[in-house]
Amino acid sequence: ALIITDECINCDVCEPECPNGAISQGDEIYEIDPDLCTECVGHYDEPQCVEVCPVDCIPKDPDREETKEELLEKYNRISST
Ligand code: SF4
Repeated sequence: ALIITDECINCDVCEPECPNGAISQGDEIYEIDPDLCTECVGHYDEPQCVEVCPVDCIPKDPDREETKEELLEKYNRISST
């Protein structure tokens, strides 16, 4: 999963771009629900939020490293519900 760091400036461009609805406004900055983030696997070649973020504050979460296969599994799980 990807994670939004505290460099987020709350610009709100990423939220509508997420095909999984994983991004929402948190208490201080925007947040990504790691259970919904497939890093856009299943939808796009590149994570859409990373493409649009003006301050490049959306790296991969080092605590939630997933393989492409695991991300695809998550995509299948999410889309079948
Ligand atoms: Fe924050 Fe980047 Fe999303 Fe803007 S695009 S709300 S700076 S994470």
